[in-house]
Amino acid sequence: MTITTKVEEAGFRPASRIAGVGVSKILQIGAKAAAMKREGLPVIILGAGEPDFDTPDHIKKAAKVAIDAGETKYTALDGSPALKQAIVGKFRRENGLDYSVDEVTVGAGAKQILFNAFMATINPGDEVIIPTPYWTSYSDIVEVCGGTSVLVPCDAGARFRLQAEQLEKAITPKTRWVLLNSPSNPSGAAYSAEDYQPLIEVLLRHPQVWLMADDMYEHIIYDDFTFVTPVALEPRLKERVLTINGVSKAYAMTGWRIGYAGGPKALIKAMAVIQSQATSCPCSVSQAAAIAALNGPQEFLKDRRASFKQRRNLVVSRLNAVDGLECRTPEGAFYTYSGCAGVLGKTTPKGKKIVTDADFTDYLLEEAHVAVVPGSAFGLSPFFRISYAMSEVELVEALDRIETACAALQG
Ligand code: PMP
Repeated sequence: MTITTKVEEAGFRPASRIAGVGVSKILQIGAKAAAMKREGLPVIILGAGEPDFDTPDHIKKAAKVAIDAGETKYTALDGSPALKQAIVGKFRRENGLDYSVDEVTVGAGAKQILFNAFMATINPGDEVIIPTPYWTSYSDIVEVCGGTSVLVPCDAGARFRLQAEQLEKAITPKTRWVLLNSPSNPSGAAYSAEDYQPLIEVLLRHPQVWLMADDMYEHIIYDDFTFVTPVALEPRLKERVLTINGVSKAYAMTGWRIGYAGGPKALIKAMAVIQSQATSCPCSVSQAAAIAALNGPQEFLKDRRASFKQRRNLVVSRLNAVDGLECRTPEGAFYTYSGCAGVLGKTTPKGKKIVTDADFTDYLLEEAHVAVVPGSAFGLSPFFRISYAMSEVELVEALDRIETACAALQG
């Protein structure tokens, strides 16, 4: 993929499976912004894909108790029985899904779940349909596993959602998976039951195609949007859907590294084979914390949603007031994905022409000291992503700077 920097150094020969893959563009921008900050520049980083809240106290306490109780050894390969039971309970309670313990798996983050699933199912040349804009790791993991990503552009006009005709057209005899992410990183767009239905009908006509539903941002939704996951809408799909979720975003637990999924027994078993050779099991202490997250009080999620919503409204209204930028109101997650077509072709005060969204985000970083991620990193241009998981004071300052920087463009 062109969105990443390849691992190339004199005298080092990487395996061909990573020849086209590298360090994520998001991490590169973060590293550059952090280096500028260390030099004393007042950089505001709106690139992070994690909540700014802390992990709730009852979850931290469960981890401390687990350490003192000696839960410090290897656990069962793909999750302790107690955590698997908590996941079964979560799927039943929140999603109306009926998974048994041998139909769920736990990994070191949802990222490992995706990796295990692709590693366990993809043969060279197998295709994975990924609507763009997409979370950058999807296509890189597919590539590492020897598969081919089939990127399908889903523009702002389609509210960044895959349409049934697009799905139908993208399916070939080599299609193994379709990957849907709702609410989406980076667009914040989410699929309602009505949005999913036509896609489900296409999938029912193509029984060889499996679906990964990445529900990572399930709990971060706004207004009157009702979250739904595909298997809940069509139980016949259960035998070929992997329903992916995790505690990172909802419970502010990105560093604990616990993700999980529900899916057909045979797939779950195959994924355990990969995990057994990669990590043996997810961290025992983090698993204890995840049990507390899933079984514990959920009321605080409402307050966090309200806080994110306030920030979403602030960012969307401020961006839409800037000449040249256009931002739709996302249904969920903590990102905005704004169009910047209106600034392309303009010239910076230093005389640089802005040709691409990456030129624009470079300008924002270098001159306004605001780090955001260009749409090219997510496979759909010209856009840029802002993560608003950040204090309102810093957001206002960053938005002021973006406004001033855009007003200074000539042409
Ligand atoms: N899916 C999506 C859409 C994400 O944005 C992320 C994190 N950025 C993940 C999965 C992985 O999350 P984790 O590995 O922390 O569980």
